[in-house]
Amino acid sequence: MTWLLKDYSRKYSKIAHLYDIGTSVQNRKLWIMEISNNPGKHEPGEPEFKYVANMHGDEAIGREMLLHLIKYLCKNYGVNQRVTNIVDTTRIHIMPSMNPDGYEMAATFADDEWKSSRPNANGVDLNRNFPDQFFPSTNGSPQPETRAVMKWINSIPFVLSASLHSGALVANYPYDDNPSGQSVYSATPDDDVFRQLARSYSEAHPTMHLANAPWKCKEIPREHFIDGITNGAKWFSVSGGMQDFNYVHSNCFDITLELGCQKFPNASELPEYWRENKEALLSYVEQVHSGVHGFVKDEDDNPIDQARIAVANRRHDVFSARDGDFWRLLVPGSYDVTVSAKGFEQETKSCTVLSDKAAKLEFTLKKMRMREPRHQVQQDMWPRERILNNDEYGHEQEKDPNQQRDPSQYKYPT
Ligand SMILES: [Zn+2]
Repeated sequence: MTWLLKDYSRKYSKIAHLYDIGTSVQNRKLWIMEISNNPGKHEPGEPEFKYVANMHGDEAIGREMLLHLIKYLCKNYGVNQRVTNIVDTTRIHIMPSMNPDGYEMAATFADDEWKSSRPNANGVDLNRNFPDQFFPSTNGSPQPETRAVMKWINSIPFVLSASLHSGALVANYPYDDNPSGQSVYSATPDDDVFRQLARSYSEAHPTMHLANAPWKCKEIPREHFIDGITNGAKWFSVSGGMQDFNYVHSNCFDITLELGCQKFPNASELPEYWRENKEALLSYVEQVHSGVHGFVKDEDDNPIDQARIAVANRRHDVFSARDGDFWRLLVPGSYDVTVSAKGFEQETKSCTVLSDKAAKLEFTLKKMRMREPRHQVQQDMWPRERILNNDEYGHEQEKDPNQQRDPSQYKYPT
C-alpha cells in the first residue's frame, strides 16, 4: 500500500499529495492521500472531505475500495468531466488504513485466525476508543491511532466524511449510543440531514437499498434495513465510536458504511466490490456541496474565524474556518441562519436550499460599539478548545485492556 501511495503521489503530483498524521503502535505510518486541484493547502471556500477505512484490521474491503478510488480519481482527472469537477471543487483526504498493524496481522494469519486482528496492536477496538458524549471510556485512553485521527479532525475544517467497514450491508448514521445504553433510536438534531446522506450512498449502491439484497455469508444472520440505512444506536449501541466524535466535537458530519457481509474476501472478488461501490463513493463526495455555505467577514473585508453559524430550530451549530468560510449541510427547505462572533453584532439572513443547488450566504458583521454582554463571550467557545484542553482526554490513567466490554454484547461487531 505504501508503495502504491508513493507511486501515485509522484506520478500525479499535480493533484495527489501524500502525508501522514503519525504512526501506529508498531510504528507504521498513518498515511493520508490528499486529492485536490491545489494539493497541500486549504483553499478559501473549498469544502474539505475525508474517507477513512480499515480501522478494524480484519475489514479489508474498505481499504481496497479507497485504493481503487485514489487510482480512479488520479487517472480520470482532466479526462472525465465529473471527476474533474469533483477534484476542482473539493479537497478530498483519503485514509486507506487507520489500523495498519491490525491489517498486517489479518493478512498474515491463516483462515479464521484473522478474526483476532480487528483491534490495534494493543488489543484495543479503535471504534470504541474515542471520547463519548454519554459514557466514560471502556477501553482506556485514546490509542496512538485514535489520538492522531482526533488531532487531524480538529486541525482541518472537514465538512463531511465516512468510514468504511464490513460485516453487514448498510449505511449507519449517528448517534451510535444514547444515555440509557439501550439499543433504541438516538436522533441527532440533524436526523433529516443524516438520513439524506446515508440514503445518498445506499441508493447509489446497486444492492444496499434493496429489501432482499444478495447475501454471500451463510454463517452471518442477514438483517434487513429499510432503504439500506439505519440509526447506529437503533441497530446496536456503541460508545466511543468515531462518527459521534466527529459530529459532537467538530463541524464534520460522519457516517459509517458497511460494504458487505464479508470482511477479508479473496482478491478475485475485489473488482466486483469496486463496481458496486464506485458510483456510491463518488455520489457521497458530491453531498459535501449540499446545504448552505459562504463567508463571514468584518466591515474591512477581513475574515472572521470561529464565528458561530446557528440555524433556527436546529440545536447544532458549526463554526467558520480560518478564512471566514463556512459550510452547513442541510436538506432542501427554507432556513434562518444567524451568525455571531465575539466582539461583533450578530446577523440573521434567510436562505432556500434546493435539492440540486446549495444556498450561498455572505455575512458582514459590524463591530460592537458597546462593551460586550457577558453571555456572548462564553457562548462563542469553540469545541476544539474544549476537547484538547480537557484532562479527561489528555491525562487519563491507562486502564487494563482486559477490562474491555465483552464483545458478545454486540450482535455482530462490524
Ligand atoms: Zn468495522
